Amino acid sequence: MLIDLHTHSSRSDGTDSPRALVGCAAAAGLDVIAITDHDTAAGWDEALEAADEVGVRVVPGLEISCRYRGAGVHLLAYEPAPSHQPLLDELVKVLAGRSMRLPAMLQRLRELGIGITGDDVTAVAADAAATGRPHVADALVALGVVISRDEAFDRYLSPGRPAYVDRYAADLVTMIGLIADAGGVSVIAHPWGRASRRVLSTEAFADLADAGLVGIEVDHNDHSSADRAALRDIAQDLDLVRTGSSDYHGSGKVGHPLGCNTTDVDQYDSLRDRLRAASRTAGTA
Ligand code: AMP
Ligand code: ZN
Ligand code: FE
Ligand code: FE
Repeated sequence: MLIDLHTHSSRSDGTDSPRALVGCAAAAGLDVIAITDHDTAAGWDEALEAADEVGVRVVPGLEISCRYRGAGVHLLAYEPAPSHQPLLDELVKVLAGRSMRLPAMLQRLRELGIGITGDDVTAVAADAAATGRPHVADALVALGVVISRDEAFDRYLSPGRPAYVDRYAADLVTMIGLIADAGGVSVIAHPWGRASRRVLSTEAFADLADAGLVGIEVDHNDHSSADRAALRDIAQDLDLVRTGSSDYHGSGKVGHPLGCNTTDVDQYDSLRDRLRAASRTAGTA
């Protein structure tokens, strides 16, 4: 049984439509995938429909942009009720932050002499509900300014580069509570990748577990084998679920093919147990 709990579609910055994503999962021999677009549930319906057709189980989820102790942290949220108003309100704020950042980034690029417009981004982000730096990168590729998303990030879009602009992110502890209130469960995505490594100490995980965190994404390509061993120990000590996933973005992220990391069946079963418990207690806290 092959389980991949973190993938992106073109509703955020992946390159496959939700339907194509599910088709690729079937072709790759996966039994279960979670669709976890950045800050939006816009791909859920199409992915769930396709799941029935090809016999793959789809777990509806999101990867929510959060902040903790001043650093960006990505939170995977599985099966929260999309209609839970406080969660929706917060997602609207995050998406508005994305929209507001876009013209600021384009302005920075124009100041560098690059003739890029909002239309160039719209052309490459056609069905995205959450626009992000990868779409700006794709527009720069289409304009012939760079040859890849990676080059666009390295030269312009990563923190410290000239077109980097910060944006609103949800408070992590608050968001973990909102996910639980909405009947879902939350798992920290790639905790020791990029920005979040600095703030996610053993003590921080204990704090987050107290706030209702359910799991840690241990097996992710951003983690070395030493990182994975240490994170596995932390999860075990705190009775957190250990997940593994590809963080697939279609052709938008090299080296992250579907199923390159997977979640053990016993851990998936434990996640589902905690989901059942969460949906029983949702909204009662
Ligand atoms: P944003 O959500 O707009 O802040 O952009 C973050 C997204 O950019 C994440 O989903 C990353 O997967 C992606 N990303 C970050 N660095 C790179 C890179 N060097 N090449 C391609 N994608 C990247
Ligand atoms: Zn992404
Ligand atoms: Fe992420
Ligand atoms: Fe991701």
